[in-house]
Amino acid sequence: MLPNILLKVEKALEEKAILSKDQLIIFMSLLKRYKKNEWLYPGVLIRKLDITSSQAYKVLEIMKEMDVLEVNYELYCHNCNTFEGPIYETFSLMPNEVECESCDTELKPLINSIVIYKVIFDGE
Ligand SMILES: [Zn+2]
Repeated sequence: MLPNILLKVEKALEEKAILSKDQLIIFMSLLKRYKKNEWLYPGVLIRKLDITSSQAYKVLEIMKEMDVLEVNYELYCHNCNTFEGPIYETFSLMPNEVECESCDTELKPLINSIVIYKVIFDGE
């Protein structure tokens, strides 16, 4: 992401005070590496910033409201802890039932889908 959009995101997050100053600095250097059409996983924020999942989703929802991110869905197998790909743009596009390719567990969108965020504006 380019400095103009990073600055806007930083200001918005500062106002909402979800992250500490240090966490905000780490998050900004992380965001710099993301480009349009790449996916930001909530788990990455949780790990890198050492925050709760509720904090991570709050941050990502703010960026969604700014039209920087949009919500996508991916199936996740909780049995073998892997993402199944492909990524779906809306929940309704997900297949009703799929088997995990690694362990054959039956995956259902309502139980096994994870919300991920696609970068739709990076300042370009
Ligand atoms: Zn599996």
